Amino acid sequence: MDFLMMEVIRNMLQLSHELGVESRQLAILGEGNTSAWVNDHSFMVKASGSSLRTLSEEDVTVCRFDRVLAILEDPGISDEALNQALMDSRMDSEAKKPSLETMFHAWLLKLDGIRFVGHCHPVSCNQVLCSPLAHEFAVFRSCPDEVVCCGEESVFVEYADPGLPLAMEIVQRTRRFMKQTGAIPRLICLKNHGIIALGPTWNSVLTTILMADKAATIFVGAAALGGPDYLSPAQVRRLAGRADEAYRQRQLGMR
Ligand SMILES: [Zn+2]
Repeated sequence: MDFLMMEVIRNMLQLSHELGVESRQLAILGEGNTSAWVNDHSFMVKASGSSLRTLSEEDVTVCRFDRVLAILEDPGISDEALNQALMDSRMDSEAKKPSLETMFHAWLLKLDGIRFVGHCHPVSCNQVLCSPLAHEFAVFRSCPDEVVCCGEESVFVEYADPGLPLAMEIVQRTRRFMKQTGAIPRLICLKNHGIIALGPTWNSVLTTILMADKAATIFVGAAALGGPDYLSPAQVRRLAGRADEAYRQRQLGMR
């Protein structure tokens, strides 16, 4: 294995272990998954059934982009054919079966500058995403640091079956978001399910998830007191465009 590959694996394991820290309540048991861009042709993703907290090198499967992205072109594919296609996408036939969520990871890792993706089910975020205020949480912002770390707004995805239906919904909603805002999202909110963060470094993905977790906790408290009172679009815009915020984003590895 070459040096670059070892570095990518090390970073992906680090991100996974940080997301799996029990006290953070972001993911338990086999919940959540992570992935990393390797090169134009391949990426690595958490193996099906493995745990973020204890993820090891053997639980990471390197897959071919073209094989995985082809699955997204075939919405009518049967469960058996999908499982086979995922197995066939592995670079190493000894590697474990990639996560059922591999399709959305592959698509997001092909966006400009995106190198790492993390998905989890934070208790805080799901309190909001399982409520009637889920959409508001995705599109409005309550605090300056939420704008810096999670972007001006998040992609909101309605509930879909995990696997291919969810991946297709994510692709459609993210495409629409990029067309409307002209930006690549940092955070995707999945109704009744969880969140996905994407970024240029493993640390930026962790930062976005930790801030989304905190923002959701604030949101729940503010909602209980008759709020939240959101930042205005002009306030959000100004925060996102300010030079000192750009500096902070660089310090946090967000740029
Ligand atoms: Zn999930």
